[in-house]
Amino acid sequence: MTHRMSPGVNLSKWNRKMLNAYWWVSLLAFITAVAGMLYCLAVTSSFQLWDYVRHHVLLPTICLATVLLLAEASNRKNLRFNHYFLIGAGSLLAGIMVFFHADLDGVQFFFLVPIIVSVFYFEPGKLLFSFGINVLLFFGLYQLQPTLHMQMNGLEFMITLFFMLAGLIISFGIMGRGAEMQQDLIETMQEQQDLLVKSILMDKLSKTDALTELYNHKTFHEYLDKLIDQCDQNGMSLHLAVLDIDNFKTVNDTYGHWVGDLILRSVSQTIRTIVSPDDFAARYGGEEFAILFTDKTTDVAYAYSEIIRNRIEYSVHSELQGRHVTISIGLKAYVPHSGKEWLFRGADEALYTAKRSGKNQTVLHEGRQP
Ligand code: GH3
Ligand code: MG
Ligand code: MG
Repeated sequence: MTHRMSPGVNLSKWNRKMLNAYWWVSLLAFITAVAGMLYCLAVTSSFQLWDYVRHHVLLPTICLATVLLLAEASNRKNLRFNHYFLIGAGSLLAGIMVFFHADLDGVQFFFLVPIIVSVFYFEPGKLLFSFGINVLLFFGLYQLQPTLHMQMNGLEFMITLFFMLAGLIISFGIMGRGAEMQQDLIETMQEQQDLLVKSILMDKLSKTDALTELYNHKTFHEYLDKLIDQCDQNGMSLHLAVLDIDNFKTVNDTYGHWVGDLILRSVSQTIRTIVSPDDFAARYGGEEFAILFTDKTTDVAYAYSEIIRNRIEYSVHSELQGRHVTISIGLKAYVPHSGKEWLFRGADEALYTAKRSGKNQTVLHEGRQP
């Protein structure tokens, strides 16, 4: 089981939050010490003010501020082991509190706080590091700080260790649960992504023709309706080219339908590679194709049609043993408000003329209305 956070999680944001919490806790410790001083001043007649200020206000505040400033510097410079420095700083802050306020009952439980705080990193190594230095600090202070030693007997010492161990185990539990939730989240996101990809694929499948991978007849008409609306509204130029493979029946009859399919694919591929991204090419049916040229002059639409026709004419098909395939094209410019039917009639008429007058050519329908 891994507890690593995903790389996207912004740990520096959490470092900042942790440092802010350190500042607040230190400020609170300072205020509490000052409040204690005022209280003692008010109720104790033989109160040793300087002793108190030195030991409970001045020295701890200097120590806390030093650790905080060092932690800030490490965080600003983003040192290599910054995370460990910050965890260590938390433990040092706890150690300072315990050292200077050793006479308070239960002060040693401050060491639990940095252990729990290190859970934020969601890394077992950092949690163990925090546990290790807190136990060491506690052990060291217990040996070196006489007041703490006097305050706690052996049993209390063991109980404190037990609580720290319990803190470690609970923290591991929290981290495990967090990792589980993260995993669930990743899986849900993955599923959603798969669904999205599937729906995009389905969408594409429903819009394209399986053999040629060009748009299908239905999608072509949906798109054309939208384009015609636009042309009627803002006069955008639109051209329709209807393409038909010449003598395709002969190809089928001579080489078989299987070869006929290969030719259909090859012709479609040529069309797809030549049309610009603004244009829309579809398999209109059988061996007929339709292209919508948008935002182009008639000369440019005608030039594109001729490039396609030429490229197909000079393509080599090994399946046809050197024979070439040609196409005929009927081209028509859309006249605003003339409607879809006129556009098709014009293009079909031009195609018919192309077929009748020898095939393998592009004919532009020039009449305003067919
Ligand atoms: P023209 O030059 O006048 O267009 O002659 P043509 O032989 O191309 O025209 P015709 O309409 O007589 O024949 C079209 C042929 O296209 C008939 C049909 O079998 C074939 N065809 C239509 N769809 C497919 C297909 O998906 N695969 C194959 N292999 N052939 C197809
Ligand atoms: Mg045909
Ligand atoms: Mg044909």
